[in-house]
Amino acid sequence: MRALQLTEPGRLEIRDVPIPEPGPGELLIRVGASGICHSDLHVLHLPFKVRDEPLILGHEIAGTIAALGDRAEGHTTGERGIVYLCWSCGKCPECASGNENVCRAAGRVAMPPCPGLGPDGGMAEYVAVPAGSFVPIGDMDFVAAAPLADAALTSYHAIRGARDQLYPGSTAVVIGAGGLGHVGIQILRALTATRIVAVDTDPDKRDLAVECGAHEVLAATADTADRILELTGGRGAEAVFDFVGVDATAQLAVRSVGPNGAYRMIGLGDGDPGITAGPAGGPGLPWGATVRKSYGGTKRDLIDSVALARAGSIEVRTQQFALEDGANAYVLLEQGRIRGRAVLVP
Ligand code: NAD
Ligand code: ZN
Repeated sequence: MRALQLTEPGRLEIRDVPIPEPGPGELLIRVGASGICHSDLHVLHLPFKVRDEPLILGHEIAGTIAALGDRAEGHTTGERGIVYLCWSCGKCPECASGNENVCRAAGRVAMPPCPGLGPDGGMAEYVAVPAGSFVPIGDMDFVAAAPLADAALTSYHAIRGARDQLYPGSTAVVIGAGGLGHVGIQILRALTATRIVAVDTDPDKRDLAVECGAHEVLAATADTADRILELTGGRGAEAVFDFVGVDATAQLAVRSVGPNGAYRMIGLGDGDPGITAGPAGGPGLPWGATVRKSYGGTKRDLIDSVALARAGSIEVRTQQFALEDGANAYVLLEQGRIRGRAVLVP
């Protein structure tokens, strides 16, 4: 089969590789579409190899069950679905209580195995996945469905965890209206009556934010925090979702979140929020504010995200590319020229 592989740090190649054999408890998926996440760019730029052998990227996978391994009963070939990306143990107390994204088997700082970021992912004609990761999508289009596996899941999880702050009349700031953020805005619109203020450096992404339902958009500049304080009567926003995570956006989040507000770190830009333990009013957070480093989401969050998409409440904007054109799609993402999500079709 053809696959897009990370062969050396920063180097992507289309190569012919064997079709994987589904092992015990696994399904072989004929890939219909595979989304491109900005996290892959972080991986591409690591100065070392993620694993010794070449890695097939792709953690937003949609497709059809092509074959079943031993003990993968309960499924049939031809079923259509997407792949839940936290390949958790399913047995630990976190998994048992539905917090699979922080599975104990992963230890303190690692994430559970994720396709395309350890095991081979979906940028190929076929991929083998644990049977328990398969989430049906009915007759949804594969290109529309694939990005739900991360862009929707991760946004949904971060928003669900801040629901107490998202009451009518509250303000939610979405920093970065990219692949994740433009879906996050739609989820906020679908689930809450909060006022949405979107912040992006790129005017085209600010237009996209408006199309997705943002009530206000702001350019990301040195005085963006002051603008948010003006919009909120000096108090700050009840929730700030940072889908970028660089120094500037992390510090914007700290400066614009309000008392008891929810600051959610989602973007993985290694940003330093510069939080101190001083009294409110200094460079630190206001009283009562919480910070959560939000990873992925639970399997239930994914099922709920699929339901929102199937009901037409959210719709990922996609740009489709052939698998062979994958390396070029990554270049366009890096240049900020993807509107919504780039999706590869093998
Ligand atoms: P993307 O490239 O599609 O979108 C990024 C957006 O941020 C773009 O619209 C860009 O114009 C905007 N932006 C860039 N710099 C900015 C700045 N300084 N201020 C305001 N806006 C700015 O990326 P994506 O796929 O949406 O991913 C976003 C981030 O989330 C990445 O760091 C990715 O690794 C991370 N991520 C985290 C998780 C998680 O579980 N925590 C899951 C998926 C992705
Ligand atoms: Zn991702």
